[in-house]
Amino acid sequence: MPNLSNVNNENDNEDYTYNLKLPSHVSNNKVLLHSCCAPCAGDLMKRMKASGIELTIFFYNPNIHPKKEYEIRKEENIRYAKELNIDFIDADYDVQNWFSVAKGLEKEPERGVRCTKCFDMRFERTALYAHENGFEIFTSSLGISRWKNMDQINDCGIRSAKNYQGLTYWTYNWRKANGAKRMYEIAKEENFYKQEYCGCIYSLRDTNDWRVKNNREEIKIGEEFYAKKLAE
Ligand code: SF4
Repeated sequence: MPNLSNVNNENDNEDYTYNLKLPSHVSNNKVLLHSCCAPCAGDLMKRMKASGIELTIFFYNPNIHPKKEYEIRKEENIRYAKELNIDFIDADYDVQNWFSVAKGLEKEPERGVRCTKCFDMRFERTALYAHENGFEIFTSSLGISRWKNMDQINDCGIRSAKNYQGLTYWTYNWRKANGAKRMYEIAKEENFYKQEYCGCIYSLRDTNDWRVKNNREEIKIGEEFYAKKLAE
């Protein structure tokens, strides 16, 4: 398996809550959620919606490769946003800019410097949209995955928010209170598409390398779903 050191896995015994409260300095009830995909965002969307938060999804993920994978992940997120009646902002797929950001970092491991730059890029655009559209706070689904380093993500979010006076990155730990468990439950209930690598061409390469070494088939884009495999 890929190296899982430095990975948080926080499923504690707190009650699962539909009564989320925004930090007290936030003057309105609006949250902009940077979503990486439906499975990671599903629990956040459901909980914030049920807590009465006025939620908007911001989908800006030019890291995702190939385009087919990008479109599938985005369409799954749009489907669930429609189901919950949540606004969805479909931002640019400026993939060439992403490759410029990742240049020279092609060999970096996951959770390394390339990922910091990747999070920065996505959060900087999210922060700009928040600033221009009356949001005082934004957060992200990226940190709910146990594959991610939450401190790394929070640092990037906080850094991007600092570009604008009065903007906060919400560092709420979405893994807590069984959030990480609920993430998988919702993914199964909704039969979301199950992506099998982080997103970029380099994570696809590294995951396939690991699979080949471990006598497993390479990833087949568009075939795996949480509840069932797509009919051939
Ligand atoms: S591994 Fe994931 S977070 Fe890191 S650069 Fe690739 S897509 Fe971005």
